[in-house]
Amino acid sequence: MTQTADYKKRIEDIVTAQLARVENMKADHEFDDFQSLDKIVIGCIGGDGIGPLIMEPTYDLLEKLLEKDVKSGKIELRMIDGLTIENRSAAGQAIPDDVLAEIKACNVLLKGPTTTPRKGDKWGNIESANVAMRKKLDLFANVRPVAIPEIGVDWTFFRENTECLYALGSDGIDVTDDLAIDFRVITTQGTERIAKMAFDYAKANGKDRVSIVTKANIVKKTDGKFLEVCKRIGENYPGITVDDWYIDIATAKLVDPNKRSDFQVFILPNLYGDIITDEAAQLQGGVGTAGSANIGQHHAMFEAIHGSAPRMITEGRSDYANPSSIMRAAAMLLSHIGYQAECDRLNEALDICLDKEKKIVIDSRGNGATRDEFVEYLYSKLF
Ligand code: NAD
Repeated sequence: MTQTADYKKRIEDIVTAQLARVENMKADHEFDDFQSLDKIVIGCIGGDGIGPLIMEPTYDLLEKLLEKDVKSGKIELRMIDGLTIENRSAAGQAIPDDVLAEIKACNVLLKGPTTTPRKGDKWGNIESANVAMRKKLDLFANVRPVAIPEIGVDWTFFRENTECLYALGSDGIDVTDDLAIDFRVITTQGTERIAKMAFDYAKANGKDRVSIVTKANIVKKTDGKFLEVCKRIGENYPGITVDDWYIDIATAKLVDPNKRSDFQVFILPNLYGDIITDEAAQLQGGVGTAGSANIGQHHAMFEAIHGSAPRMITEGRSDYANPSSIMRAAAMLLSHIGYQAECDRLNEALDICLDKEKKIVIDSRGNGATRDEFVEYLYSKLF
């Protein structure tokens, strides 16, 4: 086959696979109902680097908060150890098959950060475990709340999680030595479901503004579709004002004191959402302070938004790993499975320790409190 025929065939295969995805989305759009399950299995994945260190106290915390239902068998907490860079590299898979089977057997997951190999490093070219999990479990909505009450900021981001440049991030084509092409995917069905979730959330939580963020003036096909579909879904929600922003100016307005408190709920394609939610988390006090939810119809995964911080391990600062981001994620998990009172209790205790009282502060450089001191402080507010 000539090179031209080869990449034409690859493009054809990509289109066929994406059209099959569209058909799957059309066929399956019901959500599992946690309230009707006899038992909810919560899988806890330590991950890499500081991941197991922040997971350990969070697992214990969940066990204690859910003590009654753990004892009765309504809740099972299950530790999943195999999602490590060593195992993934040895298997040559983003998620080894046996670990994926364990993950799929759970209803919801709490996940520590996982290391993603960079081109040329010793782990080989494996896809990000997060990106793979979002695809395998079809976790299409990445929901990230950011609140900074003292400046009037209360934002909730709905980032589409399975499409955009990430859908085919490892499937680009080196057409020649000088020409590389990647592919960006936006579908009507993929956009409808994230938009619907964002508007439903706004309606249920008394929000009256939803902001759609794209670059539809330049990226006309994919962003054009995303914007058009979100606006169409928004027409079903009278009383909610819909506005749209280009990603560049939206990024600037998040730090504009005269504008930032007007924003409430955002809907964004994957890449813009990835970038802007880290900016927002930084404004809140750093990526160590935020949790994030990845929600699909049949599974949901909750995680800290920071990475595995490998340098904290190699530089001997692991005692100072801050578990508050994964604990915020655990609070979101509790809310998702219907344990709102336990979620509120945990969030209130975290608010006291991290913002209102701040008797001790963890500093990743190793100057402040240790993880264990922080956990003890938190426990003193909870139990
Ligand atoms: P990082 O978030 O892991 O760490 C950057 C710095 O932030 C650390 O050196 C540390 O000083 C600080 N930090 C982060 N989390 C902290 C915590 N809980 N407590 C105290 N300090 C904390 O970012 P990175 O170094 O760019 O990424 C390291 C690895 O993590 C990479 O392989 C990356 O791909 C991966 N990653 C994974 C996820 C995920 O699994 N969700 C997210 C982002 C990055």
